[in-house]
Amino acid sequence: MKLFTIFGDPVSHSRSPLMHNSVFKRYNIDACYTRTHLDDGSLLRDIFFAKALSGANVTVPHKEAAYALCDEVRGIAKHIGAVNTLILEEGQLIGYNTDADGFIAALQSFGSLNNALIIGAGGTARALATVLRQNSITPTILNRSENRLGYFKENDFLSYTWETFPLTSYDVIINTTSAGLSDEELPLPSSLLTELLSGAKCAVDVIYGKTTPFLREVKKANIPHKDGSDMLLEQGILANHLFMGGEISLDLLRPVMHQSFFL
Ligand code: NDP
Repeated sequence: MKLFTIFGDPVSHSRSPLMHNSVFKRYNIDACYTRTHLDDGSLLRDIFFAKALSGANVTVPHKEAAYALCDEVRGIAKHIGAVNTLILEEGQLIGYNTDADGFIAALQSFGSLNNALIIGAGGTARALATVLRQNSITPTILNRSENRLGYFKENDFLSYTWETFPLTSYDVIINTTSAGLSDEELPLPSSLLTELLSGAKCAVDVIYGKTTPFLREVKKANIPHKDGSDMLLEQGILANHLFMGGEISLDLLRPVMHQSFFL
């Protein structure tokens, strides 16, 4: 039996096991996908091999650690410096990032957008900034602290802390912080968020499965919005395609994974 897992902290909220196990069941694949709570990201590689995994997903806060632990990184993950999907290939740990393309697929329903404000500067923010720029949507990054802005400055993204941010309007406001994931915090001071939402066409919270304080403010602003479910679905489809070596087409994977959201 092939074994897969998702590494993260927290990880108990993750829908990935349900999504991938639904595919394995539907297509009679001898495989199982579990959750692994991991607080020290530097142990990820050792645990991957100790559990004899065939592949894994990586979530908050270990995507940058996963990137550093790979034998080879492929595709857009090389530019992002963060990995959310790992596969074992001839004994080598290969890293990919499916969050980026998953997010772009989820954004399509909002129509044409010129610029975006990304709140947060972690692995997800890197993925979104890179793929938005590739898709001609200019991203600006806003984080509560300076520490993680180095990557964005080195790669010529406009990036600010709350203190240095020059307020202007953006087509889409995206929350990529973990504020609201397992607490009731807003990702920005309330007054700044209200100003930003009043000038925006739409908003996305990448957190899924709950109405976060950010999404509550978005609803008050009465603009089109979505949580992270569509992104979750699309990144999961792309990850499963990699796990199975392309055995099942993306179009066949989509309905099975989507159906798992209602289980
Ligand atoms: P990281 O740990 O890499 O980054 C977290 C970011 O959030 C940092 O910039 C951090 O700021 C900021 N942050 C954390 N808490 C707060 C707070 N209370 N107020 C303001 N900023 C805060 O996380 P990831 O990028 O890996 O993941 C972020 C979120 O995206 C998670 O909630 C994850 O579940 C979700 N996600 C959803 C996906 C989906 O498919 N829907 C896919 C990928 C991620 P600082 O630098 O100051 O510490």
